[in-house]
Amino acid sequence: MANNQNSEPKSSWRPETALVHAGTNRSQWSETSEALYLTQGFVYNSAEQAEARFKQEDPGYQYTRFGNPTISMFEDRLRIFEGAEDCRATATGMAAVTAAILSFVKAGDHIVAARAMFGSCRNVIETICARFGVTSTLIDGKDLNAWKSAIQPNTKLFFFETPSNPNLELVDIQGVCKIARDNGIVSIVDNVFATPLLQRPLALGADLVVYSATKHIDGQGRCLGGAVLGSKELIEKYVQEWIRQTGPSLAPFNAWVLVKSLETMPVRIRAQCATAAKIADLLTTLPNVTRVLYPGRADHPQAALAAKQMPGGGQMIAFEVDGGKPAAFRVLNALRLILLSNNLGDAKSIVTHPATTTHFKLTTAQREELGISDGMIRLSIGLEAFEDLADDLSTALEAAKG
Ligand SMILES: *Cc1c(COP(=O)(O)O)cnc(C)c1O
Repeated sequence: MANNQNSEPKSSWRPETALVHAGTNRSQWSETSEALYLTQGFVYNSAEQAEARFKQEDPGYQYTRFGNPTISMFEDRLRIFEGAEDCRATATGMAAVTAAILSFVKAGDHIVAARAMFGSCRNVIETICARFGVTSTLIDGKDLNAWKSAIQPNTKLFFFETPSNPNLELVDIQGVCKIARDNGIVSIVDNVFATPLLQRPLALGADLVVYSATKHIDGQGRCLGGAVLGSKELIEKYVQEWIRQTGPSLAPFNAWVLVKSLETMPVRIRAQCATAAKIADLLTTLPNVTRVLYPGRADHPQAALAAKQMPGGGQMIAFEVDGGKPAAFRVLNALRLILLSNNLGDAKSIVTHPATTTHFKLTTAQREELGISDGMIRLSIGLEAFEDLADDLSTALEAAKG
């Protein structure tokens, strides 16, 4: 082909180029922008072709639960960017997490997971898996020895997220995944907080990486989505069958939004990280702020590990105000620009009070163990001008001083 009609990815492409062009599959009309195939089914030319397709001897599509050209474009673009052999998109991040976990375990198996994780992930591992006879041990993910000593003869999976929600604790990906490999255990990394731009778990030894595309991949608060990435062997042998049969498939419309979102992801995330770094520094100077947790700051408890595995501090900040819940609530209620919500990774900056929302189901003791205090506020930095966010936070913290 003279021109790049169907953008075969070139290995020389830089990440930004891959996110704009990779995976594009043009129709007979040679459209510039990716097409939206809003269809449930596909028509066969003959009964023979239908038979061949069901036997997977003919490469076309059958039914959107199994696959769809728009969904494939999203999967291929993310896969090529991530450097993964294979990718399956899902309807939500939790569908990706659940599919990745349940594809590998059966009754009698055991999972080891880092305790500091997204609430629903903890629920799937601790409660839902337990109902089907899969036991788990939750550990301090920072401690490599804790991973080693939690291994049982029936341990099949390691699961962790880094940085963690909400307190931005890090897990040494290379260290933990090596322990998994050495023991024949499959490792799954939830890479949502770091984003595919800032952290590459597969290159650091992880077997599978999972995303909530709802967050930074969409980046504009519109569509839910998720993805599981890894080797062809693990995805085709385990994850694919789970997704095809149980049906947590991504909607083509959402896939279309997400494939377009990937084009702008690096620009958005870099801008958000630059603002977040400045806001984290500013917060340390504001009244009543007793602690700021940001992986890009030298005073982060794991700053050395952050520098090693994350080329950027990310766009999430956690900070604590003196005076517990009443003080935190005063701050949230005094903000005028930054939105109060439980989402993150949006173009709009968002604050959350984890203790009473995303983590309210945990007991006080569990929250204490995770370092989620009543005065902790989680901040997701959007695309607004730094000065406007700085004004809003300074005014709110001054007003809430009490
Ligand atoms: C949001 C999130 C999920 C779940 O994603 P959904 O798209 O809401 O289902 C999983 N893990 C982490 C770390 C998240 O932030």
